[in-house]
Amino acid sequence: MSRAEEDATTVRTRREPPRFRGVAVRRVEPLTPRMVRITLAGPDLEGLTVGDPAASVRLLLPSPGTRELAMPTWERNEFLLPDGRRATIRTFTPRRVDPEALELELDVVLHGAGVACGWAEAAGPGDSAAISGPGRGYAFDLDAPAFLLAGDETAVPAISQLLEALPDETPVQVLIEVADPDARSPLPDRRRAAVEWCDLPPGAPPGDALVTAVRDTDLVNGVRVWAAGEAASMQRIRRHLFDDRELPRSHTAVRGYWKHGRQGGPDA
Ligand SMILES: Cc1cc2nc3c(=O)[nH]c(=O)nc-3n(C[C@H](O)[C@H](O)[C@H](O)COP(=O)(O)OP(=O)(O)OC[C@H]3O[C@@H](n4cnc5c(N)ncnc54)[C@H](O)[C@@H]3O)c2cc1C
Repeated sequence: MSRAEEDATTVRTRREPPRFRGVAVRRVEPLTPRMVRITLAGPDLEGLTVGDPAASVRLLLPSPGTRELAMPTWERNEFLLPDGRRATIRTFTPRRVDPEALELELDVVLHGAGVACGWAEAAGPGDSAAISGPGRGYAFDLDAPAFLLAGDETAVPAISQLLEALPDETPVQVLIEVADPDARSPLPDRRRAAVEWCDLPPGAPPGDALVTAVRDTDLVNGVRVWAAGEAASMQRIRRHLFDDRELPRSHTAVRGYWKHGRQGGPDA
């Protein structure tokens, strides 16, 4: 057997993700000049439930330059369209699911140049899309003495859910990096939360201000850390927490949500 054939047989087969559910845009609301809330709806959302906060869904969009949505099939570990091209899929946080109204809300960052970002900017009622999921959320420890939540703008929907879900009496520190001061948005009200918005200096690599803020923050013994944002900066935060702070891995959940200079996020 040739090396190429050997490689092909040893490629890990990924489990097929949940089926895509067809939806249409019902409402579009600007939350800030940098974020828009898209409400998707349709009978196919029947039975969709999301348990833990900070879960994920895959959003299937029409291929760039088209308005027609083609349903892909799962082949060789990826979703392929009938013409063999890769389907246009991005990952978002299911901010709110309304099982009565059969609605799902996504809060999308308008970062400038991306298929999903462009789609969200132009979206209007009736536009077709599809979603698959949910993917795993954050199963937090109810007995933790404190939490640190750190993220960039893409993590704001998940951080908002966490602020709503964490026990009332537990102190929570929140660090959020924004690439533009306009991106500051209201967060859910919470008694014991200290929120700090960190501005990314012009020209600095994404995540730089967040890494500095995490390094500079005091952490109480036993704190649990949840962080999400640009993948390279999350790697720096991971290293800092493990190597400098010596936090146990089981006390941290650090997730790359997108990769600088790469389409489709870290898993694409
Ligand atoms: C579990 C999970 C949950 C997520 N939840 C959300 C969410 O609720 N809301 C949300 O907006 N995003 C969320 N994201 C991030 C989102 O999937 C990515 O930002 C995605 O790349 C956006 O797709 P796009 O088509 O707009 O850009 P792409 O076509 O993927 O990328 C085009 C270019 O834009 C850059 N880029 C991508 N995202 C950003 C950004 N945020 N800021 C600056 N440059 C960027 C890329 O590096 C690339 O150079 C989540 C990701 C994961 C993995």
